[in-house]
Amino acid sequence: MNNHSIDTEILVIGGGATGTGVARDLAMRGFKTVLVEKADLTHGTTGRYHGLLHSGGRYVVKDPQAAKECIEENRILRKIMPQCIEDTGGFFVLTPWDDPGYIPRFVEGCHKAGIPVESVPITQMLREEPLLNPKISHCYYVPDASADSFLGADLNADSARQHGAQILTYHKVIRLLTDKDQQAGDSPRRVTGALCHDLVKDEDVAIHADMVVNASGAWAGIIAGSASIPLTIISGKGTMVAMNHRIVNTVINRCKMPSDGDIIVPAHTVSVIGTTDVKISDPDHFAIEPWEVHLCLEEGDKLVPGFKDMRMLRAWAGVRPLYQESQVSDTRDVTRAFVLLDHERRDGVAGIVTITSGKWTTYRKMAEVTVDLVCQKLNTQRPCRTHLEPLPDASHGHHTLGGKLARIESDQAYGQLICECELATYADVTHAIVDRQARTIDDVRRDVRLGMGPCQGGFCTYRVAGILHRLASGQTDGSKPRVEETNVALRDFLQERWKGLLPVLWGQQLRQERLDELIYLDVLNADHLPGPLSSRLGPEMYAEPSGLEDKIGIGDLRVRLHPQIPDSGSLSPLPFREGGSGGIGPDILVIGGGLAGLVTAWQAARNGKKIRLVTKGWGTLHWGSGCVDVLGYFPMDNPDPLQSPAAGISKLVRDHPNHPYASVDIDQIETALEAFKAVSAQYGYPLHGDLDRNWLLPSALGTFRPTCLAPETMIAGDLRLSTPMLVVGFEQFNDFYPELIADNIACQGRSARGLTLDIPSLRQKRFVTGRVLASLFESTEFRQEFVSSLKSRLQGISRVGLPAVLGLNKSIEIKRELESQLGLPVFEIPSLSPSISGIRLHNLLVQEVERLGGRVYDGMQALSVGTQGRQVSAVYTEAAARMKPHQAQTYVLATGGLLGGGFQAEYIGRTRESVFDLPLNSPDDRSAWFQDRFLAVQGHPIFQAGPAFAGDFRPLDGEGQLVYENLFLVGGALGNCDPLRERSLEGIALATGYVVGNQISK
Ligand SMILES: Cc1cc2nc3c(=O)[nH]c(=O)nc-3n(C[C@H](O)[C@H](O)[C@H](O)COP(=O)(O)OP(=O)(O)OC[C@H]3O[C@@H](n4cnc5c(N)ncnc54)[C@H](O)[C@@H]3O)c2cc1C
Repeated sequence: MNNHSIDTEILVIGGGATGTGVARDLAMRGFKTVLVEKADLTHGTTGRYHGLLHSGGRYVVKDPQAAKECIEENRILRKIMPQCIEDTGGFFVLTPWDDPGYIPRFVEGCHKAGIPVESVPITQMLREEPLLNPKISHCYYVPDASADSFLGADLNADSARQHGAQILTYHKVIRLLTDKDQQAGDSPRRVTGALCHDLVKDEDVAIHADMVVNASGAWAGIIAGSASIPLTIISGKGTMVAMNHRIVNTVINRCKMPSDGDIIVPAHTVSVIGTTDVKISDPDHFAIEPWEVHLCLEEGDKLVPGFKDMRMLRAWAGVRPLYQESQVSDTRDVTRAFVLLDHERRDGVAGIVTITSGKWTTYRKMAEVTVDLVCQKLNTQRPCRTHLEPLPDASHGHHTLGGKLARIESDQAYGQLICECELATYADVTHAIVDRQARTIDDVRRDVRLGMGPCQGGFCTYRVAGILHRLASGQTDGSKPRVEETNVALRDFLQERWKGLLPVLWGQQLRQERLDELIYLDVLNADHLPGPLSSRLGPEMYAEPSGLEDKIGIGDLRVRLHPQIPDSGSLSPLPFREGGSGGIGPDILVIGGGLAGLVTAWQAARNGKKIRLVTKGWGTLHWGSGCVDVLGYFPMDNPDPLQSPAAGISKLVRDHPNHPYASVDIDQIETALEAFKAVSAQYGYPLHGDLDRNWLLPSALGTFRPTCLAPETMIAGDLRLSTPMLVVGFEQFNDFYPELIADNIACQGRSARGLTLDIPSLRQKRFVTGRVLASLFESTEFRQEFVSSLKSRLQGISRVGLPAVLGLNKSIEIKRELESQLGLPVFEIPSLSPSISGIRLHNLLVQEVERLGGRVYDGMQALSVGTQGRQVSAVYTEAAARMKPHQAQTYVLATGGLLGGGFQAEYIGRTRESVFDLPLNSPDDRSAWFQDRFLAVQGHPIFQAGPAFAGDFRPLDGEGQLVYENLFLVGGALGNCDPLRERSLEGIALATGYVVGNQISK
């Protein structure tokens, strides 16, 4: 291990708001300054706070001194860093749960602290914030605001750098250096610097300084303790939950003594409710307890009725450092709101001061008093200027919600979005990686707010990994990046997002997470990337919850949080009706338009049945690879792909008698595959493969993806052959990264190169999506342009891989024409949705069903059902002015599992089938639903949930009796397996749809 040292005047420990503020102030006063942070800037509490620039209103009764500091700093920060602040204003509201006696104390406190306060009529409040509880009786306006702490710390660090400071991230202080290091003695008299470990280079760095500022927040006691300075910091954990959208545009505070879950802050595109306050023993190891999330939701519901049923994005927690002085000689120099400790006076150890506690709102003031003390210690007088000089780029004024969009419109960067949720562009990401030297994708997130929206990185994680690798590949020193480093960066970030999703995974967010699994497992095969599973720069997970849910009992929780939910009996949001009414219906009604539903309809129509298919939307064909995976891995945790799906299935059905494959013969699976191959060929889109061997095709990450049937457009990519391939992408297409794909393929022993083409006609396009490319490839001119850009670059190449965009309708012709012009086999590689190759399969099946006389209606969601005894008599969908009944002799449920919306999961741990309210066999306790790691090879138990069903695929009740005699389940609606981990999604859909479609036609 290499070691080196740095000499400086002042060493600042901690890259949060306080540390970066101190570094800026020191540098502006002319001190030679080095700041060290053990991870990225804002990795600590600053990056995990609530997002509120306090007016001080919250503290006027409890802590008037803190309130005064807040309003003073509020005014200063608005001037020096408006770009970090959205001037939302704040309401203090009195709900029916709050004590009206607090109001006069609040108003008087505001007056005393100098906080402007104004009464707002309830009608006006509701005009401005229509979702607020109309039972709110009083409302007051104060100058609260929403603030971006990531940007704030970055700008303070930038300003510090501009004044000569050095900012060293991923430098962890191992221990303070003291005079005891040079001479033996009982206890140190002076701190002389710190021994740090550079986590990126994996080497130690000794930093020698005249003075150390310990600005490490909740870790301040650990740092001080390394020089035997006793400092007790108690960590107070606070949990927050981000909701899916801007429920409110104003900061909403309850008008009462500060408590849990009483503030909603609009932050960029979302709203954040919080916080709790729980003492913990270790700032690095703590859990987000289920009760904390529930409490936030319950309290949110008092402010905004319906809040607890709204979609959540994630939960996170930060730690407040609570200073506890156990020494008699208390040398706290400033107010109770923050703590500045002069260790020379307090402990007899010179060369170090500690600044801790306080608030983000007061970080600048904390820095100012700290640097004043440093000046005093070093016998120099240098006035503070941080309250006078704005941070870099402050000239544009306050941040506004529409600001990012306006910039994208003026830059015409519509096609450059890498994160659609947060409007982060290619240029933003490149800037974060190159100029700001992001070390991890999480660093990029903090810089450009990427991966923080509804899909929590579902799409942008892949793209950023591709950009990271592309930029590393183009390094001027000619060094080749190790693809394993990109792979681990991708895995680390997926895990980082998973960490915050875990506490809120039910309802829509659980469905979203399953979609992310579809992308990363089924399409990208990311769980089989070469390289380590995690890196030392990866996220620390929250600890396991303590099981409080169990202690108070799920029943108690249900009653406490959802008094309207019955404790027993069936819960059905769908009105059941006795009997049904309506016109003459089809023989068979299929509910759900994914592969399973379409195959059922196709088979039944082929047998002469009158078919109607109703579907809310299209199924996973639009998202998947466009291949038919029958069984790729068995057992699921086997790292090696199955060579023969047939052999795997025979083992699987022995081990898992409830698996859907256990109810079909292998011959039936084979017949279904052959029939599907025949119908695809009939539509000019042949599929190839059989049950005896899986293809190994490249994924858009360069992993080897096992699949049973592949379209002709993909099979030349077969990785069982070793002929060299060129993987080609397009500069303007952000869903495909040839360098990453090729390097991963090469890393696994096959010969591959990547090439990104910059085709002139694509430069003119506002968007270059898969759909745009697919339609361009259907034009002769574009194909010619493509061929002429590529032709001269094929030396030493035997085949060419492209994103799966070779036309929607004429892909075989297009492929053959390209092959003849390039003189080489061409193949497609599926990537992010929309899946052009999947849509081709969808389209041909819909055409075939309709050709056979079946009717397919999309945009129709099954909302209620009619039953008569053990017969389903009707299914109702919503029409313009009424419920539309659909009556049939037989009903087929093909709504998919959690992914398709066919199953629902509630936060109290209950799961159910969505249309007929069939019970599902899933773990009762939500804590047993998931593994710790997103990509855990065993899969997450919740995704194996499903109803019990008979051998003929009719649902069974708890006693093993048929629930309905004329209802059948197919595809994902069967559950009882994890098709994404097994890579059996399309195989199960096809086989069960085929069998049921034929059976019900008899
Ligand atoms: C739940 C919660 C919500 C909050 N909400 C608000 C709010 O809405 N408004 C507001 O004004 N305030 C809020 N606060 C308070 C505010 O977040 C903090 O006061 C502020 O962020 C503290 O900043 P800091 O720089 O002192 O600490 P931190 O941000 O924790 O910075 C300390 C840094 O030291 C680093 N470090 C630790 N050990 C080492 C080591 N060995 N070597 C190198 N570096 C090390 C850490 O990684 C960390 O980045 C909230 C606090 C909590 C807990």
